[in-house]
Amino acid sequence: MKQKKAYTYRFYPNDEQKHILAQTFGCCRYVYNWALRERTDAYYQRGERLYYEGTAERMVLLKKQEETMWLNEVSSVPLQQSLRHLDKSFRNFFEGRANYPTFKKKHNQQSATYASNAFTWKAGSLTLAKMDTPLDITFHRSLPDRCKPSSVTVTKDEAERYFISILVEEDIKPLEVPPKMIGLDLGLKSMVITSDGQTHGNPKYFARDEKKLAHAQRQHAKKKKGSKNRNKARLKVARIHQKMADRRKDYQHKLSTHVIRENQVVCVESLQVKNMVANHCLAKAISDVGWSEFVRQLEYKAEWYGRTLVKIDKWYPSSKRCFDCGHVLDSLSLDVRHWICPECGVAHDRDINAAQNILAAGLAVAACGEAVRPGAVKTKSGKPPRSRKASQR
Ligand SMILES: [Zn+2]
Repeated sequence: MKQKKAYTYRFYPNDEQKHILAQTFGCCRYVYNWALRERTDAYYQRGERLYYEGTAERMVLLKKQEETMWLNEVSSVPLQQSLRHLDKSFRNFFEGRANYPTFKKKHNQQSATYASNAFTWKAGSLTLAKMDTPLDITFHRSLPDRCKPSSVTVTKDEAERYFISILVEEDIKPLEVPPKMIGLDLGLKSMVITSDGQTHGNPKYFARDEKKLAHAQRQHAKKKKGSKNRNKARLKVARIHQKMADRRKDYQHKLSTHVIRENQVVCVESLQVKNMVANHCLAKAISDVGWSEFVRQLEYKAEWYGRTLVKIDKWYPSSKRCFDCGHVLDSLSLDVRHWICPECGVAHDRDINAAQNILAAGLAVAACGEAVRPGAVKTKSGKPPRSRKASQR
């Protein structure tokens, strides 16, 4: 089966390329923010829904206006792609998977996507539209043979590093079918607890640079606004952030690949991370473990390798339910790590019991062909969830 797969590499632009990219990023950001405003206004002021086509038509006019003529200086392809990205953000919002799109800021990560008509690819060398020379890419691992990239995305992160993500279609062969099934629970003391009692990922490992970060942030706050030193300090903060994020992502990738390789069916609980982050004392721990990113990786890797990923409704009482007899406790506060079932007397480790319940529920869901897509459940205070069970796409 042909699957789309992105390969990401670091690259080192020369001064001219840096200049063109800076311009392109700026224009993409401008167009994205402009279209977000257009779509928001259309909806709130006139009750109209504007889609990609509508914004693309308006952009043609925008580019003819005197004060936004500079948009014509960059390749038009990444600008259209920005509109597509916005369209996707809106779709995610309307389907309950994400918050309302927000404006892009200058100091956050910048990106521009080039479709195949805006770059040339010749024997491993890649030249973007408006550039004379190919990018100096560090191919730390090779692309599949004879691949033809369908699009590339250039990003500059907060630490001012440049990356290129090359999207190719690849024949990924499903892995052999192992008879194993597993349930995963999100923990606070470890990132993942499996139904067979293993724990993975200690949050302390991810938070190793925390002190350094706090120090750098204090230094940054002390510097005069707009000064060169402040910018330097900002970069330093960004670099530490980036390093921590890289370490976490690397760990998540290794673990998600391992889980998918070893198991045919993987059951996870879907958490409304957003809601939990609002709970202040948990916020840090939960953002740190990055559960939603981990589940996202499991999702696409399951698709690549022909595995089944079952997401359990977040309303399922996985922690409070006794795996042995099915008794459900009225409440179980977060600091209780071990408990004894009042009904059957079995002693439980909180997290392992939850992971076992998740596996059982996942198998039940998979067996009756009914999938629970908790991503579609949106809860806002006072509003009941639209539907508890929506069918899988
Ligand atoms: Zn029990």
